[in-house]
Amino acid sequence: MAVEPEQQLRAYVEYLRDLGVHDFYRQGEPSAAEVAGDAVRVALDISVESQPVVESPVVEELKEAPPSRPSTRPVFLEPPIAKLVSFDDLAPLPESRVAPPHKADALVAIQEEIGDCTRCPLAYAGRRKIVFGDGDANARLMFVGEGPGADEDIQGLPFVGKAGQLLNNMIAAMGIKREQVYIANIVKCRPPNNRTPEPVEANTCDQFLLQQIDVVQPEVIVALGSTAATYLLGVKQSLSGLRGRWHRCRGAKLAVTYHPAYLLRDPGMKAEAWKDLQMVMKEMGLKAPAKG
Ligand code: URA
Repeated sequence: MAVEPEQQLRAYVEYLRDLGVHDFYRQGEPSAAEVAGDAVRVALDISVESQPVVESPVVEELKEAPPSRPSTRPVFLEPPIAKLVSFDDLAPLPESRVAPPHKADALVAIQEEIGDCTRCPLAYAGRRKIVFGDGDANARLMFVGEGPGADEDIQGLPFVGKAGQLLNNMIAAMGIKREQVYIANIVKCRPPNNRTPEPVEANTCDQFLLQQIDVVQPEVIVALGSTAATYLLGVKQSLSGLRGRWHRCRGAKLAVTYHPAYLLRDPGMKAEAWKDLQMVMKEMGLKAPAKG
């Protein structure tokens, strides 16, 4: 269903208010209507052609804002994009750990805290279900992907589409069941057209993934693809530079491998991914199931 520009602008203003930005004002060019259109486009990643800018009560409000404020650009043209920070540097490790019998409840509490989230623009970009995460709350192994795709958005579960089927095969090849691991994503809402999450989206959602990791306390985390590696480790590096060695994340050992969606596009790289998984299996004492 198409969303009206006015609704989009209202949603974005609410989103910024959630982030603590309450003053909206402008001076000089461009016109308030242009500014409003730009803000919505910035927030929702839509093209100029697809969304004609209309005058609206919200736009009128912007026009009437105090003229005396020193400003060259409206506040909402500057989304609060934080710099890249590793999950280790985002917050200290918890002083006390959740005991195994209480981990499932602790995860439910995080999910309740997220609620019907409107903290970032993805809430207004056609999301159907928030994909919280899935699996054993006491898992020794956790996989982190990028963000939900179309199938995940419908079902509310991570990695249930084609890439998920390949991930299931990868997990089975490690001699374990999907139910024994925990699976989550950098962002919990589907980015439109499966684009890479924007920094403001990843940096808004990361607080919840961080809590999930701290509750589950996996021994090993596998970052699936460069988006997961970038945000978990706080570094922007090629995947080849990050693979094949251990990193640290929230007290766990972290390995980087290819995203299953990439492996579907380039099956020739599966052998490389298998090397990464073998490194994990060795660390965890896992054995591949006997063939037959
Ligand atoms: N790709 C991801 O990164 N995560 C999912 O949950 C599904 C596809």
